[in-house]
Amino acid sequence: MKIDKFDKVMSLAKRRLFIFPGSGIYGGLTGIFDFGPLGVEMKNNIKKQWWKFMVTKRRNIIGIDGAIITHNRVWEASGHIQNFTDPLVEDKVTHKRFRADNLIKDWLEKHGDSNNTKVELTDMNIIDMSEFIEQNNILSPDGNPITNAKSFNLLMSTELGVTEGGKDVAYLRGEACQTIYLDYKYIIDSGRYKLPFGICQIGKAFRNEITPKHSLYRQREFEQMDLQYFVAPEEMEKSYEYWKGERENWYKMLLNDFESIRFRQQTKNELAHYAKVAFDVEYNAPFGWSELEGIHWRGDWDLSRHGQYSGNDLTYTDPETGNKFTPNIVETSVGVDRTFLFLLLDAYNEEIVNNETRVILRLHPLIAPVTVAILPLKKNENQLNISQTIFDDLTDNFNVEIDVTGSIGKRYRRQDEIGTPFAVTIDDITEDDGTVTVRDRDTMKQERVKINELTQFVQTKIKEYRKFVGN
Ligand code: ATP
Repeated sequence: MKIDKFDKVMSLAKRRLFIFPGSGIYGGLTGIFDFGPLGVEMKNNIKKQWWKFMVTKRRNIIGIDGAIITHNRVWEASGHIQNFTDPLVEDKVTHKRFRADNLIKDWLEKHGDSNNTKVELTDMNIIDMSEFIEQNNILSPDGNPITNAKSFNLLMSTELGVTEGGKDVAYLRGEACQTIYLDYKYIIDSGRYKLPFGICQIGKAFRNEITPKHSLYRQREFEQMDLQYFVAPEEMEKSYEYWKGERENWYKMLLNDFESIRFRQQTKNELAHYAKVAFDVEYNAPFGWSELEGIHWRGDWDLSRHGQYSGNDLTYTDPETGNKFTPNIVETSVGVDRTFLFLLLDAYNEEIVNNETRVILRLHPLIAPVTVAILPLKKNENQLNISQTIFDDLTDNFNVEIDVTGSIGKRYRRQDEIGTPFAVTIDDITEDDGTVTVRDRDTMKQERVKINELTQFVQTKIKEYRKFVGN
């Protein structure tokens, strides 16, 4: 039933041009997706609202937009060349590759812990996994024997330079946050910013994931929205708790069903090599509880290492006390694509109206790809001109589209399906008195509104919707 919902949402996303398989006409690339005309609008809205909440509305948070291609020393310093690995096993017959932890998880879900050994997957290292696979004769999904688990590095590399042999290896960044640490020095040297302060970035990251899956959930190219918050070591605990609370507030604004997320503390074995404490924000997806965001206590690992590897002084001197130290970091890192996917799942609803199934995406009006749809009942010149005038006016503030295709019922159904909160209908009365009807997606109620009051009307309705930072 739950998987059924996932399939329905995926089919809607394809049918209504939210997402496409990357390089699809050439057979596609595993773990790579493109965003279509509606997808790009929704994705931009997610990023815009996150930026407003995290950066624009706060006086001590600033942003950067760093490069994707990074010096190979960055990843030595960060520990990724050594530690950024997943446990890989290979099907001995087909040579397909899988993540050992995923195969064990699937096996445990199917068989339970039959030996009652209280197996904790998150506590297993690569040797434990290989032993567990052997003891329980776990096979590949194709039913063949598999190799022992080995560590596989997820970083993607490229070459820079013009001559063969004269090229330097560089990395596509495996996580967006690293460029924040690289640019930290320029920002702190400007003398304009005092601790505590934060730097945000929204940008692409690349990982050679062994098993991309669940559409946008695990991709090889994806986007992250990161905050790195720099604090004095003694302020760390307070700041960590503060940001955990703020990220909770974000999800209260964003989701219809706040119960569909939980904050789960990572076990010791799960912690990334740099983390002292970490909470995962998890979403109750049709394929099980799944990570959406990481809130990490990174301590002074990053700045110390980059200071050491680059030979630059990345310490901070408190202007009041004169104390010199390496700032500690609280990180909040969330995937744009996972947010996008989980918002579609959160918003998807089916209702029976007049014996027909009505599909609605109950997206927040500030996230919906189209805020207002203009639907002239007739295709005569007058109604088309009025539609264009309203379009020109409303596009100053909202995403708007004019839809003239099919019956009005069919057009409402399409707008419900893509989550458009307001549908403006132009009819014969409009031509007489300059009013239109505005239909509310959620209640299906219609109100007559003067054309010159439409912007105000929609703005008020958005404000009355679940409180969001941008309204
Ligand atoms: P996972 O355990 O699912 O591989 P992670 O703990 O490695 O994720 P982080 O390095 O903490 O992820 O990255 C922060 C966020 O970036 C994740 O919470 C997720 O939303 C997003 N993200 C990470 N890897 C991917 C991916 N392969 N595809 C899409 N989003 C991703």
